[in-house]
This record gives sequence, structure tokens and C-alpha cells, in this order.
Amino acid sequence: MKVAITYHEDFGRNGFSVLKDRIRPSFEALMESGVVDGEDVQVLKAHPTPLALVEKAHTESHMMNMSTDPYLDVAILSVGSVMMAAELVATGQAESAFAYTGTAGHHASRGACWGFCYFNDVAITILKLREMGLERFLIVDVDPHFGDGTRDFFGDDPDVFHINFHSGSGNKFDPERNNYDIGLGYNANNYQFLEQLSGILELAKDFDFQICFVIFGHDSHEDDYGGFHLTFDAYPRMATMIKEAVGNKGLVFVLSGGSCIHVARQAIPDVVKVLAGRWPS
Ligand SMILES: [Zn+2]
Repeated sequence: MKVAITYHEDFGRNGFSVLKDRIRPSFEALMESGVVDGEDVQVLKAHPTPLALVEKAHTESHMMNMSTDPYLDVAILSVGSVMMAAELVATGQAESAFAYTGTAGHHASRGACWGFCYFNDVAITILKLREMGLERFLIVDVDPHFGDGTRDFFGDDPDVFHINFHSGSGNKFDPERNNYDIGLGYNANNYQFLEQLSGILELAKDFDFQICFVIFGHDSHEDDYGGFHLTFDAYPRMATMIKEAVGNKGLVFVLSGGSCIHVARQAIPDVVKVLAGRWPS
């Protein structure tokens, strides 16, 4: 298949309070959009990730803190959604994937978490993919909040090329460790965002990776709660640029921040259409 969408209704029912209201309406909009045809584009039901894998990534004290957290189950299911999406892509069953989540991941470090994140879904998935023999990964974090948890996992790992957009000021590149922070400041517009994305993807093309993860927070939309001021036009253009840069390697979009229902209802189907090669129609 071309695109696998991993989803579970519990993301909308039990997801983090700020994030969950967008889930069901955006999924309904995706189904109404006609892009899901059951062949090229399929929806698969996410299942919880084995706890043993989560324990490999996070510290004992973090696991202890999480053991009584009301979001524990949906956080494990969110990791499972990302892992299922990535495994489908890594094994060639899907060219690309879009993983729904009920909690986010990029503020979860090995030993702590904040900001609607509990377990680092992408980091745990990379751990699993490495067990399967894959080695090098590109992460494009376009959520406007700094991906500090992901940096905690991979900051010293040059086999993970970490592009990290945020609403602080100035760019900070560490090519030795492949860490690329892009600070667009507050109220960044489509032009500023896409221009920087284009430049950094040009650099990333020289990095030999197997799977690209996009940490997709639509809290970057002007109506949503994050620091950027993007409009709807930015999302399909962003997805097109990343898809072109990734070429025939694997591409996995991971839902991150965002709470606006009308933003999610448009941005998510638009991104999936690009992945399916059916943009704009
Ligand atoms: Zn965010």
C-alpha cells in the first residue's frame, strides 16, 4: 500500500485533555475526504506497544512515576501506533505512514516528561527498528515547541539527524552530532518556515538514512496554541517538500501538538493526500 494510517478511537476518548478533542473530528474528515480507499490508503487499528520496549528506553524512576498516571494506557497505545506505522514502512508493506496518537512524545526524555508527553514514541520506535537492523534515521520535528526529550535521546548520536524547529530565536547547528535547531521566533509565517525547511532538507539529503520521522504538530497554525503563525497552505507544501527529499526511503508522520478541531480537520487530510500522491484533489 502507499499509505498506512494507524489509529485507535481511544486517542479521542482518553487522550491528553488538550489534544484529544481534535482526534475523532479529524479522523471523520479524513474518511470523508475520499483519500482512504482501503487499497492504496488503509486505516489500521493501533495496538499497545509491549511494555518491555518502553522500559528499555526510559529510566526505572520514570516508569515508576508513570505506573499510576491516568494517561499510562493511552501513552502506551500512542507508542504502539507510531511503532506499527514505522514497522509497516520498514518492512516495505507501506511506502509511508501517518500515525495518530493520544499523547505526544517529543518532550519525554529518558527520565522525565512534560507538555502532554509521557513516553518518547519516536525514540522507542527507533530502538525497535535498530533491533530489526536499521541504523540511521532522519527526524524532522516541525512542532513549534523545542523537542528536548528527543534531543535527550539522540543529542550525542550522529546516526540520527535531528531537525528541530522551535519558536525560540536563531539557528544552532551541530553538524558533528547532526543536531540542527531552527529558531524561527514567534509568529513565523509560511514563507519563513518553508524557506528554512527547504534549506535544511537540502543538507539532510547528504545524510544516508533509512526512515524519516516527521513530528507533526499543527499547533504551528495561526489559530492553534503554538508559537508559529502558519496557515493551511503550509502543511501540504511542507509534506510535499519532505516527501521529495525522502524519495524512496521510508516516511512516517507522527501526530504531535495541536488542539484546534478545524485545523486538524483540514491539515491532517491534506498531509495524507500528499503522502498518497493525491494532492490537491
Ligand atoms: Zn507543540
